[in-house]
Amino acid sequence: MPFTSLGLAEPLVKEVADMGYREPTPIQKAAIPEVLAGRDVIGCAQTGTGKTAAFILPTLQRISDKPGIKALVVTPTRELADQIHELALTCGKATGHRTVTLYGGVSYSPQEEKLRAGVDLVVATPGRLLDMIGRGAVRLSGLEVLVLDEADRMLDMGFWPDVKRIIDFLPHKRQTLLFSATMSPKILEFIGATLNKPVSIEIGRPATPVKLVDQAIYPVNAMQKTDLLLELLKGSDMQRVLIFVQTKRMVDRLFNILKRAGLPAAPIHSDLSQSQRQRTLSDFKTGQCRFLLATDIVARGIDIESVSHVINFDLPANPEDYVHRIGRTARAGEGGSAISFLDAAEIGNLREIEALIGRLLPCKDLPGFNYRERFIPSVKKKVSRPTKRLVFNGGARRATQRRRRR
Ligand code: AMP
Repeated sequence: MPFTSLGLAEPLVKEVADMGYREPTPIQKAAIPEVLAGRDVIGCAQTGTGKTAAFILPTLQRISDKPGIKALVVTPTRELADQIHELALTCGKATGHRTVTLYGGVSYSPQEEKLRAGVDLVVATPGRLLDMIGRGAVRLSGLEVLVLDEADRMLDMGFWPDVKRIIDFLPHKRQTLLFSATMSPKILEFIGATLNKPVSIEIGRPATPVKLVDQAIYPVNAMQKTDLLLELLKGSDMQRVLIFVQTKRMVDRLFNILKRAGLPAAPIHSDLSQSQRQRTLSDFKTGQCRFLLATDIVARGIDIESVSHVINFDLPANPEDYVHRIGRTARAGEGGSAISFLDAAEIGNLREIEALIGRLLPCKDLPGFNYRERFIPSVKKKVSRPTKRLVFNGGARRATQRRRRR
């Protein structure tokens, strides 16, 4: 099915072809015609499915020529805002629309200058957007389309009160598009009343990306995780490795250890400045840095092409995060590998992950590594069935608990 049959206008179709998209992804096929028809949409799809284009393309086509801000995308992180903005900028050239990103950690003036010059679409994180509204730099009374991106993550990160305040500034008569990797009843409780007969679109839950990733568990004593990581990376031909670590402090510690070992590594987490994060991402993209050490919140949604390996230094407490993490590899049908270290304290997390993805993960050893005493999970014959709590409702609560522990 070509992009033209979705109802997109010629300049956008051309732009899409120039970007190398040959055919629409499932979320694009399902969402674009609905958005073009002016309907409210609830889209359940995670990063990597092509959801950004699914809302940006039809939004640009739909908004009017009136002056002022007509479309607003609210998203949880600066990295996501940058990625959305990049696409909006490219496609906006085709439709003649101007965009701006608004997020914290950088100075107000360049953002205010762009706003003064006139923009049609704003991509923003909640806090800075509210600041800008407060400063009188953003007026949303003419808004036509609101997109809430990664709604579940905004809920996890405690942004909902801000999102609700933002919605209070918007006209009632508008189109609302809500995208979320998981759809908990809490999200619908918050937002449901402001939607107008929404169409729900659910794109195949994690199964597809997970299936494409070669996954293995490396049982190891907690005290030896760092040595195992060093051994694994030293002399390896792994090209672009995303290493997930539970805490910012541990990211920094591992970074120093890898640096001392002469390995081309870099850290990324929310305590680093925006420019540091951007520089690191760009070094990772160009291959100057091969090993990126990251925490979940920052890594989620980062769009990096062809990550060859994901290493889970720690298993995530929230099984959905495992799926998001390994979804960073095996993009666009390419193969990818995910290696997860497992110490005795993490066996419960492993079982929850296996229940969520519906398969057992094989345990492997790194040949030649001098393992000390460790816990090796017994081989189970059958995966336990996923529970409702696990799939739909646990994310926010567990994320809050995790944050408190940090
Ligand atoms: P997203 O889910 O929006 O983060 O998109 C993930 C990646 O898929 C991005 O790198 C996009 O450039 C890419 N992408 C989006 N739509 C398509 C498509 N129709 N064909 C090929 N790649 C796409």
